[in-house]
Parts: sequence; structure tokens; C-alpha cells
Amino acid sequence: MPIQGSCACGAVRFAIEGAPSAVGTCHCSRCRKLGSSTIVFVARKQFSLLSGAQQIETIAPRAPYTYTRSFCRCCGTALGEPLSPDASFPINAHCLDDDPGIPHSFHEFTENRPSWDTQPEASGAIPETIR
Ligand SMILES: [Zn+2]
Ligand SMILES: [Zn+2]
Repeated sequence: MPIQGSCACGAVRFAIEGAPSAVGTCHCSRCRKLGSSTIVFVARKQFSLLSGAQQIETIAPRAPYTYTRSFCRCCGTALGEPLSPDASFPINAHCLDDDPGIPHSFHEFTENRPSWDTQPEASGAIPETIR
């Protein structure tokens, strides 16, 4: 069974065939503010947008950020990059309705982590093979 995912209102629905390549957290301020800091990386060929493409609003990056982010226009749920043309792209891990089957495995931009965030890091840096 594909892994199912959706936004809070259910307008945007997607499926991932097989396990994502990684689950991790980006601590940069942009990902934190946009509400999509914990992400799963998926390959284009394993990702299917099932509904709600017309409800997805995209937010272009401003330097130094390089990744477009998007959200559901109905409920505001941050989605990651479901409309990305790239071969591999991030999706908000909190949108998954099923277990991705792999553990959290990386943290990036940890130097941008706010001082109040004292959660211990249980995993390491983003693997080079993902991007
Ligand atoms: Zn929604
Ligand atoms: Zn980030």
C-alpha cells in the first residue's frame, strides 16, 4: 500500500509509493517559520498528487534560500514542495497519514536553531546522496 498524506482540511492528498529516501529536520528560520521543518525526501517517480493541485500556493525562495515552499490555500497547511520539478524534493513529514517506514536520520542548519530549542539531536547530518 502506498503511504498516504494530506493537508489538515483534506483538499490536498498525495501518495508515496515505497519508503521515502530520508526523514529529517531543517532548522533554518525559513523552514521553521513556514512550518515545514521536518520533512521526508521523496523521488518524483514515487510521488503522486491525488487531489488539490489547484489549492496549492507556492512561495518562491529569497536568497540565501533555494527551495520553493508551498501550502494549502484552504487550510494553510505547509506542504513542502509537492509541485517541484526536481527528481527529489521535500514533503512536510507532518502531512503523512501513514508511517514512512524509516526513522528520522538527519538535521541540517543546526547553527540556526533557536536557543530555546534544546531537544537533543538523535541523528546526524543530511546524507549527500539525497540531493
Ligand atoms: Zn488544506
Ligand atoms: Zn530550511
